[in-house]
Amino acid sequence: MAIFEISLLARVTWNLHSLNNEGTIGNVTEPRTVVLANGVKTDGVSGEMLKHIHAYYVWLLAEDKSNFCEACQKFHPQKADKNTKIKRTDTPEKAMEMAISSCVLCDLHGFLIQKPTISRPSTIEFGWALGLPDKTHRGVHIHARHSMEGRVREEPESIEEKAEDLEAEEKTKETEVREVTAQMIYHRPTRSGVYAFVSVFQPWRIGLNEINYNYVISDDERRFRYQLGLNAYKASFMRTDGAMVSTRLPHTENIEGIVAISERNFPVPVISPIDESFDKILEDLANQTPGIQIKRFSNLSQLSLFLDDLTKEELFKLNIP
Ligand SMILES: [Zn+2]
Repeated sequence: MAIFEISLLARVTWNLHSLNNEGTIGNVTEPRTVVLANGVKTDGVSGEMLKHIHAYYVWLLAEDKSNFCEACQKFHPQKADKNTKIKRTDTPEKAMEMAISSCVLCDLHGFLIQKPTISRPSTIEFGWALGLPDKTHRGVHIHARHSMEGRVREEPESIEEKAEDLEAEEKTKETEVREVTAQMIYHRPTRSGVYAFVSVFQPWRIGLNEINYNYVISDDERRFRYQLGLNAYKASFMRTDGAMVSTRLPHTENIEGIVAISERNFPVPVISPIDESFDKILEDLANQTPGIQIKRFSNLSQLSLFLDDLTKEELFKLNIP
């Protein structure tokens, strides 16, 4: 078969994570909150964060960083806009060709160039990961950071206070004075839940100059980029990076769902796993739509094997005379 598009539709269980937050006001970090069509508020991880995680793994997994443009070699966000070879091109077609041919990451994840003004949408798309409202829980934990600066020494004021000190004394040896430490209190969110995840990969567009609709790289190079894109999905779930992972590394419990594949020029279906019956709907769609097939997986190892199988397939190519 020749792969036109792939969708990855899954329910992911992340425990005690803080992968994505609204921001920090003062010493309080707010988790992401989104509103569903029925008005219910729930927890979410933004598509920007998920795309960033995938893009980072595309960069990390490529052994030879000369496959990237100057900015992407160092994972700088300017991407093709900093590609000096583009400045020497004289038409938008050539600028697009140069940007795509000189960088795997620009090709897969899209870019924006200011001069000449051209943009290329990503070949890999992510929706928000949405917490299933009845299976998502939030908590706020208080974290105190102690500072050595501003320490003061105080005499105990009363017998009672002295007694309290003595209780804590196992750690600090008995003393007639105590140290009061300056400290900052932080309120940090932690969430656990089952999240509906949606993503689409469009291998038919890899290496495609979408100004003149020519493929600007070889079939082998297209395949290499496609394999890198699939492997980056694997890495993203094997170890999900994101915000606050230094102290809120997610306990990834499971991932289950469907990989849908379109083998002809027809868009692959995307049905949100937020709906309990998403797999049944996808199965019906696959049965009634030529060229669409689905593969169910119930854990990460099965998903990983499906993605490995897909790396061996050919890529769909537009047939333009
Ligand atoms: Zn690049």
